[in-house]
Amino acid sequence: MPGEPQDDCLFCKIVAGTIPATIVRETETTIAFRDINPQAPTHVLVIPKAHHVDAAALAAEAPQLAADVLRETRAVADDEKLESYRTIFNTGSGAGQTVWHAHAHVLGGRGLQWPPG
Ligand code: 5GP
Ligand code: ZN
Repeated sequence: MPGEPQDDCLFCKIVAGTIPATIVRETETTIAFRDINPQAPTHVLVIPKAHHVDAAALAAEAPQLAADVLRETRAVADDEKLESYRTIFNTGSGAGQTVWHAHAHVLGGRGLQWPPG
């Protein structure tokens, strides 16, 4: 069932507290924590607490929750004092998605090229 915790999901385990993470923000519906392999001085992941496999599924299954995640990306940027930052949703393995629980990457604190590689 979309939204239900999955036993084999890394980010559901972070939500449950069974795997540690450096959590920087938490709301009723979301958490934000530092990426274990940062690609920029600020690299934070914002996730819904509920399990949805990717951003497209999240938007389709729980649009209000998708909005909560987006709102939190701005809040992370504010906390980190980032004027400019990039929000990325990798969707599908060909785009680099490796964790099948929707997450927004918030990257900042260095120059970011456009278009990306
Ligand atoms: P994706 O490649 O699916 O878009 O992003 C998954 C992200 O999760 C990667 O940037 C990866 O470094 C991060 N990640 C993988 N395992 C862990 C972990 O155990 N803890 C944290 N904090 N981040 C993780
Ligand atoms: Zn999950």
